Amino acid sequence: MHVFTPAQTAVRDKAAAATRELSKIIIDIDRQTGHSKEWWDGLHILENAGLLRLYIPTEKGGESADILSLVLAQEEVAKVDGGYSNIVSHEACAYAIFTNCQDEALRERAIKSMAEGSLTCIAITEPETGTDLAQMQTKAVPDGDGWIISGHKRVASLAGAAGMYLVFAMTDPSQGTRGISAFVVDAGTPGLSVGEVDDLMGFRQLPPADVFFDNVRVSRSQLLGEEGGAFKLFAQALNLGRLGGGTQALGIAQGAYEHALAYAKKRHTFGKPLIQHQAIQFSLAEMATQIEASRALIYQVARWMDATNDITSRETATRCAMVKMQASDMAMKVTIDAVQIFGAYGNYRENHVERLMRDAKVTQLVDGPNELMKMRIGHALIREA
Ligand SMILES: Cc1cc2nc3c(=O)[nH]c(=O)nc-3n(C[C@H](O)[C@H](O)[C@H](O)COP(=O)(O)OP(=O)(O)OC[C@H]3O[C@@H](n4cnc5c(N)ncnc54)[C@H](O)[C@@H]3O)c2cc1C
Repeated sequence: MHVFTPAQTAVRDKAAAATRELSKIIIDIDRQTGHSKEWWDGLHILENAGLLRLYIPTEKGGESADILSLVLAQEEVAKVDGGYSNIVSHEACAYAIFTNCQDEALRERAIKSMAEGSLTCIAITEPETGTDLAQMQTKAVPDGDGWIISGHKRVASLAGAAGMYLVFAMTDPSQGTRGISAFVVDAGTPGLSVGEVDDLMGFRQLPPADVFFDNVRVSRSQLLGEEGGAFKLFAQALNLGRLGGGTQALGIAQGAYEHALAYAKKRHTFGKPLIQHQAIQFSLAEMATQIEASRALIYQVARWMDATNDITSRETATRCAMVKMQASDMAMKVTIDAVQIFGAYGNYRENHVERLMRDAKVTQLVDGPNELMKMRIGHALIREA
């Protein structure tokens, strides 16, 4: 149904092979919390397959993959685990932000270390600041040729495992979101510390922690983009992130559907396989159709972004918000229905669908909750009127 270039097919096949490896150990990984040995084993499977440097150009040590390839890789990984799939997207978002680094030496160093497998933590959210970023309390106060950063970040995925932190802080609180600037801070910088890793329901393989900035000094070269220009960086990262969030939902739904279909063919009730009962057939038919509808939307938006080289426009932002909202709501329904087909055994870890259902719920929250997607789409409709 979908036609891919040889390069896109190669990325998808590589991701599928890595995902088969991951599927053998995912239940053990999922039982742990944080950056356990098992978690690193899973991460190294993705890293060895090149999936954490897809978006980085070949000449910088990456894979020069296009956006559709990135989508195909995430879809494959998410069939087994949403959190690991998000890491594939997360690193692409971090790369997009790093390209705004004005200091040539720092940009090259950051991209080289990413290509070599170093992870990045993006620290935006705070205890009192989630969707409403104008309330950000972390401050960067001028100090000589640089700034002093003080504040407390929450829900910072990969904090504690990352080599670099992309920190968003207010440089001019009177300007609201237009007063937010972004900085690169190396792990181990004096004043930067990380709290205990949080224990989660879903996306357990994307462990977050609090990050504390206690008078962390940064130089001018550590500023990303313009002072007060972080909002432009959000656009790049959020659009890729939301396309990614939708794609993770797609893969999660596909994974749950495949488990449910296989089970419905082998489990017998009332003298015949479950799939011969019309109610079960209808449930699977709805799943297959809704998944395919999401896939068509996601591939279309990814192809459009590749063709236009546009990851920042309002049009792209609206499409990516639609993708994230539509696919995550679809995945929530599909995974609930998949658990239902397993009956009591849907509640057992060994059957995988309960983990995928937990992950599906998080796709409705990650990269901006779906209410925020509706606000973005609603604002676009007002502009059209
Ligand atoms: C898996 C995952 C990974 C994450 N990783 C990171 C990360 O790496 N770095 C980082 O900085 N942050 C990260 N986050 C945090 C994420 O960006 C925030 O959760 C998000 O910004 C929402 O903030 P909040 O959860 O505090 O919700 P709040 O802003 O407190 O909102 C609570 C609820 O109310 C709804 N709501 C709020 N305002 C309105 C309104 N005006 N109208 C209608 N509904 C509204 C929201 O949609 C939400 O459902 C991650 C989150 C998840 C789930």
